[in-house]
Formats: sequence, C-alpha cells, structure tokens
Amino acid sequence: MRRPVIAGNWKMHKTVQESINAAIGLKRKFYTFAEADIVICPPFTSLSKVSDQIMDSSIMLGAQDLYWEEEGAFTGEISPNMLKDAGCRYVIVGHSERRNIFGETDDDVNKKLKVALRHGMVPIMCIGERLEERDSGMTLEILEKQLARGLRDVAKDEAVRIVIAYEPIWAIGTGRTATPQQAQEAHRFIREFIERSYDREAFSKIRIQYGGSVKPENIAQLMAQEDIDGALVGGASLDVNSFAEIVKNAVL
Ligand code: PEP
Repeated sequence: MRRPVIAGNWKMHKTVQESINAAIGLKRKFYTFAEADIVICPPFTSLSKVSDQIMDSSIMLGAQDLYWEEEGAFTGEISPNMLKDAGCRYVIVGHSERRNIFGETDDDVNKKLKVALRHGMVPIMCIGERLEERDSGMTLEILEKQLARGLRDVAKDEAVRIVIAYEPIWAIGTGRTATPQQAQEAHRFIREFIERSYDREAFSKIRIQYGGSVKPENIAQLMAQEDIDGALVGGASLDVNSFAEIVKNAVL
C-alpha cells in the first residue's frame, strides 16, 4: 500500500509570525497522525521557525524550490544544504509557476530533482499541461516529455522516493478542478511511464499526487481513484481549518 501524502504549498504568503501561527494550529490537530504524510511548504524566511514548531510532531517540512549547486555566487538562490539545515525533508521542484513565470526548463527540473535526492530530501516533481494543450489532445504527450526529461539519469532506487505531482495548469488557482476521471487517466499514464522506464515494482511504489483547486469538498472523490495517492494544495492550504479538513477527508 502506498502511503498518502498531502502537501500544502503556501507560495509567497505568510510572514514568519503568520507561518508560526499556522504551524501551531496544524500541530494541535495533527500532533500524531498515522494515516498520511502531511507536509507544509512555507516561504524560505519561515522555514526554520516553522521547523522549530513542528519538529516533534507528525507534520513534515518542505521547501518550495532549491538550486542545484552546493554553494557559491548564485545571488538569490538557496542550496540543498541550507534547506536540510532548516529542517526540510521535502522540496517542490518544477512547479508550473517556476516554469511559466521564471522560465524553468525540464533540464533545470532534472538537476534540481537529482540534487534533492542526493541530499536525502523527497522531491515533489510537478508536471502538467496547459489548457490549450489539453484542448488539442496533447496532454499525455506533454506529460511524457516532462517525465522523460525530468527523470533523465535517475536510477530506480531513487525514482521510487520521488513524489510526482500531476497539476494541470488550467486547474491551479482557478477553482476549476480536473474531474476525478481526468485526473485518474493522467495518473495512470504517469504510473505506466514509470513502469516502462523502470519496472513493475517502481509502478507500484511511486506516489502520485493531484494538484489543482483541491478543497475539502473534492478531495475524497479524487482520493477514491486507484492511482491518486495524495494532493498538492495551494490556496486551500493557507487556512489551517481547510487544510486540516482536506487531510482528514483524504484518508476517510
Ligand atoms: C498549486 O499551486 O500547486 C496548486 C495546486 O494551487 P491551488 O490548490 O490553489 O490550485
């Protein structure tokens, strides 16, 4: 059985104090929680303080991005060691906002993924198609390209540690969720790609999250799909109660 993983991406929201307050609120609800991995991804400035709050609880810390070099003259970037030092166990790579606003390529995603794995963090690798790509029937082709390039030269024992987040871009922050059937079809395709690239064991083990306007009201239907193992939640993760409802409804 794959362990569900529900991650909250706070994006560029919350000051340090607001992050601490949210972490305390979540810790009260999920001090111990055996049914799923719960991950919160605050902005970089809040990582250490949030880590202090959740350290002894079942909630895990994730970052929203990283750079692939260990250290050096890379103004504005953050290294894997810095994230580890701040308490991160997970890190999001290749979010569509990084790809679309900041020009990240599949090659960048591949480098970030590999450095995260090398440092023992679990990368959450985001992939997904634009609306026009879905409308012109190119969804699976786009996913295949992002997977092939993003996972290049990643060995099976490392690949099975990755969490893949299928996030159709047209569903992110729009209130328009993929139907459970649309999400399931994409997740199945991703799992089969993993089987073709590695083997049947990797097919069974890899965890694939859905992301795109996940809310307390739609998570259960999504999680009922055979190949959906969790969710990457943006907007609805900013509120402690709604994120807590999502986690609870995910494992009903
Ligand atoms: C996201 O940004 O990864 C995301 C899924 O956002 P939202 O839940 O707000 O659609």
